[in-house]
Amino acid sequence: MTRLGHPLAFRHSMGWCYNKQDPLFINNEWHDAVNKKTFPTINPATGEVICQVAEGDKADVDKAVKAAKGAFRLGSPWRRMDASDRGMLLHRLADCIERDAAYLAVSGNNGKPYAVAYTVDVPMVLKCLRYYAGWADKWEGKTIPIDGDYFCYTRHEPIGVCGQIIPWNFPLLMQAWKLGPALATGNTVVMKVAEQTPLTALYVASLIKEVGFPPGVVNIVPGMGPSAGAAIASHMDVDKVAFTGSTEVGQLIQQTSGASNLKKVTLELGGKSPNIILSDANMDEAVDQANMAIFFNQGQCCCAGSRTYVQESIYNEFVERSVERAKKRVVGDPFNLKTEHGPQVDDEQYQKILSYINSGKHEGAKLLCGGSAAADRGYFIQPTIFGDVQDNMKIAREEIFGPVMQILKFKSVEEVIERANDTKYGLAAAVFTTDINKAQYISNSLRAGTVWINCYNVFGVQAPFGGYKASGTGRELGEYGLENYTEVKTVTIKIPQKNS
Ligand code: NAD
Ligand code: MN
Repeated sequence: MTRLGHPLAFRHSMGWCYNKQDPLFINNEWHDAVNKKTFPTINPATGEVICQVAEGDKADVDKAVKAAKGAFRLGSPWRRMDASDRGMLLHRLADCIERDAAYLAVSGNNGKPYAVAYTVDVPMVLKCLRYYAGWADKWEGKTIPIDGDYFCYTRHEPIGVCGQIIPWNFPLLMQAWKLGPALATGNTVVMKVAEQTPLTALYVASLIKEVGFPPGVVNIVPGMGPSAGAAIASHMDVDKVAFTGSTEVGQLIQQTSGASNLKKVTLELGGKSPNIILSDANMDEAVDQANMAIFFNQGQCCCAGSRTYVQESIYNEFVERSVERAKKRVVGDPFNLKTEHGPQVDDEQYQKILSYINSGKHEGAKLLCGGSAAADRGYFIQPTIFGDVQDNMKIAREEIFGPVMQILKFKSVEEVIERANDTKYGLAAAVFTTDINKAQYISNSLRAGTVWINCYNVFGVQAPFGGYKASGTGRELGEYGLENYTEVKTVTIKIPQKNS
């Protein structure tokens, strides 16, 4: 079975099944890169090449931006489309993704376990697209009682051509988080997917065509950051750029945007999120949630609970039980349905994480479990726990983005608030306690965009997500997420004061 107009062959649902080469998606057509370059995409469980993908560059970004600009021109089918019909297209896209869920869940070449992709990523993608489908015709402006004899109202208009640069840790979900609000509000898109994970995004491109989005509304250009990514950030015809990834690249994007055409920028960046366990917490829940907070998705989460602060009187018990729990994680073949924990995304991340583990050992943290490779091929790393971690250690300050838990001891609430906030980041935080007053006091004192109380990693598409401080700018998801894709136009009409 071959999907309509799609070059990927669909063979069976439990293995890699791609053509030798995957193209770029521009104007609802499949293109080779202008310079004919390709790059390999790797199966991180084995290190083997799955297939070659066309490598987009500045010239391809130019083509894609031209297509997106054309699709946005006044009077185009997309600009003339009823908002409710834009919503319908998003609903249909969700329906197709649901139809092909089993396939999309295997073809995520980021190494995440099939069971996780199928039961977590895909359902969240569907919820996101359907949520924003509903918003398409409900994103209302206001009527405003300004002074004088005027009728004043606001219109929520699309910004225009949106560049979207996404990472590899949730390839399908990050694509949906970006497309949902951009398309619901009537923008057009040039998306650069991460070089590690181009495959599912290109499959979704075929579905975008299948459901009938007009040509040029969505364009997908896989390629490298410094070439294709930078070409988006500096492009004079891109009106907005939305980026998820490292803080370092986020800074570059903001600079480049400022130096080119001052395109609007939203950034969703890194974190070093504190997870605070008070002595009165429910121990079973705290151990379990703290484990999931750091190890979910092999630790490759921007909001990972990577600094676990545990109150003195329960520290020993918590540490002992966390180690027991971490050792139970089922690490292995992503296609085994029992697997909870797959490989890291690529060799670069794998090496980087191992070097952080080494630095933890050298700086005197206590390695309690894990600490090395978990298989003789592929990029597997054992779930690793460090105890007796000090705030100034590298592993307590920098984002590791891997399955490495840091446990730190604290005495008082005031002390832990200060230590938790002593970071350049501010993406997420959590508190575990059965005392509602302490929970609220701590939550209000933390400088973070999301605070979870007695839970972790809870995402509702209805609720905004984003960072304080160096963790980013703007919010994704929820109604707030629409603001980043909207220009507000104020229209003022003189009201005649007599019937002439
Ligand atoms: P990255 O920030 O380099 O990559 C994210 C995206 O940005 C990719 O699509 C990449 O191609 C693109 N990019 C890279 N350089 C660019 C440039 N100069 N201009 C425009 N786009 C560019 O992240 P990485 O190198 O894959 O990982 C490094 C670290 O970043 C990780 O260890 C982790 O700490 C962090 N990270 C965070 C997230 C997140 O969800 N916030 C996701 C991925 C990585
Ligand atoms: Mn990078």
